[in-house]
Amino acid sequence: MQAFTLTTPDGLESATAAAAQGGRYIGGGTDLLQLAKNDVETPDRLIDLEPLPLTEITATDDALRLGAMARMSDVAAHPAVVARWPVISQSLLASASPQVRNMGTIGGNLLQRTRCGYFRDTGFACNKRAPGSGCPAIQGENRMLAILGTSDHCIASHPSDLAVALIILDASVELRATDGTTRTLPLSDLHRLPGDTPHVETTLAPGELITAVSVPASRAAMRSHYLKVRDRASFEFALVSAAVAVDAGAGTVHDIRVAAGGVGAKPWRLPEVEEALRGRPLTPKALADAAALAGQGAKPASQNGFKQVLLRRAVLRALQTATA
Ligand SMILES: Cc1cc2nc3c(=O)[nH]c(=O)nc-3n(C[C@H](O)[C@H](O)[C@H](O)COP(=O)(O)OP(=O)(O)OC[C@H]3O[C@@H](n4cnc5c(N)ncnc54)[C@H](O)[C@@H]3O)c2cc1C
Ligand code: SF4
Repeated sequence: MQAFTLTTPDGLESATAAAAQGGRYIGGGTDLLQLAKNDVETPDRLIDLEPLPLTEITATDDALRLGAMARMSDVAAHPAVVARWPVISQSLLASASPQVRNMGTIGGNLLQRTRCGYFRDTGFACNKRAPGSGCPAIQGENRMLAILGTSDHCIASHPSDLAVALIILDASVELRATDGTTRTLPLSDLHRLPGDTPHVETTLAPGELITAVSVPASRAAMRSHYLKVRDRASFEFALVSAAVAVDAGAGTVHDIRVAAGGVGAKPWRLPEVEEALRGRPLTPKALADAAALAGQGAKPASQNGFKQVLLRRAVLRALQTATA
């Protein structure tokens, strides 16, 4: 592990100023420190976000606002989140372990890196870690990896459960650049597909800080659900997950949002399922027909073709649960 210095900023301005000089932010450290210990990441200067005023969780009639340093466990247990945005709470409770959730933050969760085993082991080539070195996963161990949005250069899946829940809610990230300017970015535009540059994972500018995540209130959000299918019941990443939010009155679907995790190179919205249901009568057959469309354009690798079937089943079960 490379030695690093730790900077403790006294405010947002000094944090982004330190980032302008090449420092890396550290939230809970549950991902970054593991990667640093394995020499996958070699930061020589870390900027501790702990002292910054970014932990607030605020719910109004119109929206939920999560400070970037709010802990996963605090967000999952917040009464307004549980009542009005249940898919967020459920996705967090299905993530990691209580210990990790007590440390892990909302900003860090969205920027955690892939669990592809080749990426996390410097003994192997990996285009994401060492651009141009190759992708051993394409011919190797790829059972856990993506079937949607992949490229000839990388087939890694995005690991965050929370991000899947947030994209169906039209969440946005609030950002602060190193020059102090701020902007708001739809979460759906935060993560990039691998293409031929899989090492470039987000649309953030160098040193840009996530300060908060905002989520609009909606009737669909109140009737939302997260289903995660994994090899063991806890402490495990998704093989496949499905997030659903639905507003259906008088037997008709007015608003429906569906996304999947574990299958995409980034959190993956499923418009084909949404379009098949929007404005239609809410019947068991309509749900089954819509779920059967999930994952159009999938390109499975040698070991993960089973995810196509699992995705459709998970989407159907999540639709049934959310509309029950
Ligand atoms: C054993 C284990 C099991 C896990 N299982 C799951 C799971 O099932 N589902 C799941 O979703 N996750 C899982 N995780 C991942 C876990 O959720 C993440 O490690 C955690 O959310 C990262 O948050 P953090 O604050 O610790 O991030 P850090 O490790 O501090 O940072 C992660 C990255 O984000 C950057 N960063 C952090 N905060 C900001 C910010 N505000 N602005 C800009 N950049 C920032 C850092 O520079 C770094 O690059 C697991 C982790 C472990 C260790
Ligand atoms: S799938 Fe992506 S992260 Fe995994 S080895 Fe290939 S390039 Fe690296």
